[in-house]
Amino acid sequence: MKIGFIGLGNMGLPMAENLARAGHDIAGFDVAGIGSDMFTSAASAAEAARDADVVITMLPSGEILRRVTDEIVPAMKPGSVFLDCSTVDVESARDVAETARRAGLSALDAPVSGGIGGAKAGTLTFMVGGDADGFERAGSLFDIMGAKAVHCGPSGNGQAAKICNNMILGITMIGTCEAFALADRLGLDRQAMFDVVSTSSGYSWSMNAYCPAPGIGPESPADNDYRPGFSADLMLKDLRLAQKAAEAAGADTPLGLAARDLYARFVEEEDGAGRDFSAMLPRFAGRKR
Ligand code: NAD
Repeated sequence: MKIGFIGLGNMGLPMAENLARAGHDIAGFDVAGIGSDMFTSAASAAEAARDADVVITMLPSGEILRRVTDEIVPAMKPGSVFLDCSTVDVESARDVAETARRAGLSALDAPVSGGIGGAKAGTLTFMVGGDADGFERAGSLFDIMGAKAVHCGPSGNGQAAKICNNMILGITMIGTCEAFALADRLGLDRQAMFDVVSTSSGYSWSMNAYCPAPGIGPESPADNDYRPGFSADLMLKDLRLAQKAAEAAGADTPLGLAARDLYARFVEEEDGAGRDFSAMLPRFAGRKR
């Protein structure tokens, strides 16, 4: 396929390179001038989008996605697929999909889980909103860039699934870190705590797969001085998107709200910026009530 790829940052570049490696013809564009010797660099977003069968965007925010949409939609050929893989607010996802549909395009919101490691290895999970026809047409690309793609319903539902998942993740990570800090104060060995909880009803992905305590469980960012992994800054972004959606939809999410406020304090007032989101553990362990 002829693919335009816009946004070649930490996630976008390895995703685009995996598509190029699989034999697709890629025209890439990033405002920061990032490119690759594995594919062609376009001079603008519109140029990357022109004549493409599929245009993929991997951008930082809904505001930027809206701006890029206005640039590329007039350049895209009718019937082509606009596949946005960024994590953005549900409202922006639905608005840009509507703009694309009005121009005769097929639009999908397909945020990912799996981080930079998953992007490089081609093992991302895609949560996809949009029409079934577009989902089918993009299927072979999801297979290259990821290990799983779930069709979640109409436009915006991919973003809805992503922020609900990450709201659970933020809350369970905080709970896991709080419990470790309490165990420390009670004189309970961290390995014993892990051995019990990871096989008891307190288990979760945060405990079992991404244990925030160094030297315990499978290797995780805790074993690498809390270098991300998944940064506290990105967790804060997703928790803010979840609260924005909860406010708009009138959903009661008190723990999601508390998690957002705690990550905001951690990133903006303490030493959380640039650290993995599991660095909540040293934060709690180092504090007294
Ligand atoms: P990043 O900041 O590394 O990359 C974003 C890229 O977009 C940058 O290179 C930037 O120059 C480019 N860009 C900005 N405005 C542009 C424009 N107008 N036209 C073209 N390019 C433009 O971010 P990332 O880590 O690659 O994340 C991308 C998206 O994926 C975000 O929405 C993020 O929330 C989501 N995400 C990231 C991770 C992760 O672990 N990094 C995991 C899951 C989802």
